[in-house]
Amino acid sequence: MDIQVHDIRKAFDGHAAALNGLSLSVTSGELLALLGPSGSGKTTLLRIIAGLETPDSGRLLFNGTDAAHRSVQERNVGFVFQHYALFRHMTVAQNVGFGLAARPRARRPSRPEIRRRSEELLALVQLQGLEHRYPTQLSGGQRQRVALARALAVEPTVLLLDEPFGALDAKVRKDLRRWLRDLHDHTGHTTVFVTHDQEEALELSDRVAIINAGRVEQVGRPSEVYLTPASAFVCGFMGACNGLPVQVRDGAAFLNGATRPVADGLRVADGPTVMYARPHDVALTTDDTGPGLCGIAEAVRVAPGLLRVDMAVPGLDTRLELDIPMSDAHWTAVRPGQPIQVRLTHCHVFPS
Ligand code: ADP
Ligand code: MG
Repeated sequence: MDIQVHDIRKAFDGHAAALNGLSLSVTSGELLALLGPSGSGKTTLLRIIAGLETPDSGRLLFNGTDAAHRSVQERNVGFVFQHYALFRHMTVAQNVGFGLAARPRARRPSRPEIRRRSEELLALVQLQGLEHRYPTQLSGGQRQRVALARALAVEPTVLLLDEPFGALDAKVRKDLRRWLRDLHDHTGHTTVFVTHDQEEALELSDRVAIINAGRVEQVGRPSEVYLTPASAFVCGFMGACNGLPVQVRDGAAFLNGATRPVADGLRVADGPTVMYARPHDVALTTDDTGPGLCGIAEAVRVAPGLLRVDMAVPGLDTRLELDIPMSDAHWTAVRPGQPIQVRLTHCHVFPS
């Protein structure tokens, strides 16, 4: 099932708009991550797709046909929310079978059939043998897998997941991520996954939609949104980013008063702008003829596999952050208080 969202607006009574003319296409069979800061409208969008919320204006199409007036049941979506809402007084098997058992009589499978389906789904989410446990007798990760099995029981064509692993610790989340990706590949659903965690979105999804203030800032494959961000917001949101206020002259960027360019080969109009570079795109250099920056290493910290350096640059208010490979040579060459010289291997400039 493919989903088209066209220019959707939604404001809750007396509040600023939660969705501000948001448009998005989800391709059939893909796993799309909705990534954005808290309050950007991710949950509202997911609830509109599910039919739990009505947009003020805009269109919602499922496989090209208007879905706005279809009930939640008719949309055939399965959803899982951040705080696993399992029924505490029901066993795991009863929780998984709930959606089927609650169907109107004409469409309700027989009890043995429901039991068979529950067992099948519990095997799919790798929880065989736990049918008779109650939610309190499960770990957080196990409960979330039960919630997923329950969402899958009604054979949805679309799976909507709202920060489903948000309440779990880092290690469990990482395991569930892999597991969810495998499950998605196995079942072939169209999946929309909400997260505010960049790493989770990049690792898990086919495409990422970056949401900011009720709009989509960029949609693309994980490598695209990370390597070629479309805006300063996306650049900063996808990872650490240095912002350098520069003057552009003939395709070269100069930092305040400097005679040597910081970077060149830019295709932007002359004038003041901000240039962005990720810490791993700032490299140490000894070549003082090409474009580059000189400054003082202020702090050097050890991180797995790399050294994080804060560099003070004359003419720049903030410190430049650089990540350099961990090596004995770098460890000796870059000491706090020593002068260093760097070059930007990759940078971004956005139209203002
Ligand atoms: P996200 O899931 O990205 O954190 P939400 O979609 O939950 O964002 O919220 C978007 C905006 O809409 C926020 O400013 C939030 O406070 C507001 N909002 C969401 N639901 C309601 C509601 N039921 N009533 C009033 N405001 C709401
Ligand atoms: Mg939310």
